[in-house]
Amino acid sequence: MIPSPRDFSIPFDRFRPYQYESCVWAQEHPDISIMQAATGSGKSIVPAYLSNFGRTVVLTRTKALQQQYKETLNADILMGRANYPCVHPENKGRTCDDCLFADEGMHRCPHSHDCVYLYYKHQALGTNFACVNYAYWLSSPRFRQSKIEYLVLDESHLLPHICLEWVGSTFHAITRAEYGLPRFPRIGTANAAGRGSALDWVSATQDVLRGEYKRLSRNAKDNAKRMRKVERMGYNLGACMEGMSASSAAWYIKSGPGVAYYRGAPRPGIVIRPLTAKYHFGRLFLGEWKTLLMSATVGDFQTFSEELGIQDPLTRRVPSNFPPSTRPIYILDAPKMSHKSKQEDYDKQASEIARAIRRAPQNWSGFIHVTRKTESRLLGERLEKHGLSGRLWVPPLKDRRGKFLGTNEQLEMWNKWRDDYPGSIAVSWQFWEGVDGLNEKICGVAKIPFPFLGDPYEQARMKYSHRMYNQRTAWMLQQSLGRTRRGRPQDYDTEDEMRGMVFIADGNYTRVKSYIDTDFLESMVKI
Ligand code: SF4
Repeated sequence: MIPSPRDFSIPFDRFRPYQYESCVWAQEHPDISIMQAATGSGKSIVPAYLSNFGRTVVLTRTKALQQQYKETLNADILMGRANYPCVHPENKGRTCDDCLFADEGMHRCPHSHDCVYLYYKHQALGTNFACVNYAYWLSSPRFRQSKIEYLVLDESHLLPHICLEWVGSTFHAITRAEYGLPRFPRIGTANAAGRGSALDWVSATQDVLRGEYKRLSRNAKDNAKRMRKVERMGYNLGACMEGMSASSAAWYIKSGPGVAYYRGAPRPGIVIRPLTAKYHFGRLFLGEWKTLLMSATVGDFQTFSEELGIQDPLTRRVPSNFPPSTRPIYILDAPKMSHKSKQEDYDKQASEIARAIRRAPQNWSGFIHVTRKTESRLLGERLEKHGLSGRLWVPPLKDRRGKFLGTNEQLEMWNKWRDDYPGSIAVSWQFWEGVDGLNEKICGVAKIPFPFLGDPYEQARMKYSHRMYNQRTAWMLQQSLGRTRRGRPQDYDTEDEMRGMVFIADGNYTRVKSYIDTDFLESMVKI
């Protein structure tokens, strides 16, 4: 008989289908295992269950997911310092990210006993069920050394990216000039000589940053922002140095004009980045504890585990609670879209998208994902001509003062626009992931999101593993199409009612089909 979740201090009356089996499977798993469970399957309950058998730590990438763990499962969460107000009277109105004692140690602050961040940090260290973010885990050796029985890596399809971001370093000439960093060495290839020069540069740069941090800390109150930047660069270089010392295999190291990409444009700089996470994942995430990797989109288990250097992991696919017929993904009759596409291809695509959207109720809002900002405007114009005039919203690139708008800022603008003009469709290059479309019902992809090969680092990474290149594309595709189906029953169709419209309008999806989850494939319908 299946027990009640309340028997395990989980605040629900009943397990959903497959939940209890997944919990038991996870508890009995060997040292390392991977679980793929669709959105809405309730996989977050698994770490809550595990915490009954030993101290469990969950890592997440987003604050929203941490809050979900707190609100629905009573996990003790620790977010980034910027999320807590500083209580020091001389630091009024600032957050703990601007701590006045970052240099000497926060415990030296006379108000440390009232410090909100320290309170939650202490709580996360002592609880049986903690949820912290990946950045905190990677930068906090003390936390990693605390007693842990189960480590759960949520959103684990992001792990290759997280490892590469943590271990890799990219510096632009602008940053070098701003902080007086050493001149970049001339490195054309990642051979042993190049590696030696890169190590020397990293070491010399660390010295410069240490000196700068010391100088700034003499007036920590006024220099908090710059100190934070210096501190982050220092962390980054420390991790890069550690990574290069741990493994000399598969690095991309180059410096010179145009090697460092920033906002899609080549800049002078230095790039020191691994081509794969396989030589770093184990060092960063494996230990005495049992490790469970969980994601809604693992895709091809073999490609994923090879990328992380995991041999023969125990794996499990948890089926979706919603049958494929309730979550159709319409494959529109659109051509393969690429830089070689002709005008008639663009027109055909726009006509198919407009036709699909017109099938849905007029007051449905939603997203169409494109990969470049120029394509956002162009597709918007084409769709206008195909009968969607007055319904399209193309995000502005900059605000009135000329500052580039990030995803959150654009999202804020969109939410207001959508509420003022119901039935609007955002054609965006920034809403691919991390967006909770709870008020949107339409979600489409106008371009399969292959990583940008104009960046020489991406080219090298693709040459290193073509399979991983396809897998990353498939992950992004699945992520983007999941923006409006968030696991709530009202997000899924019934026999009598269509409740959402999800589509792909680029024939290139066939190139990554074998990397897409079975669950997802089953719901694809050609129209
Ligand atoms: S330790 Fe003191 S100065 Fe630092 S964040 Fe906490 S209260 Fe503010």
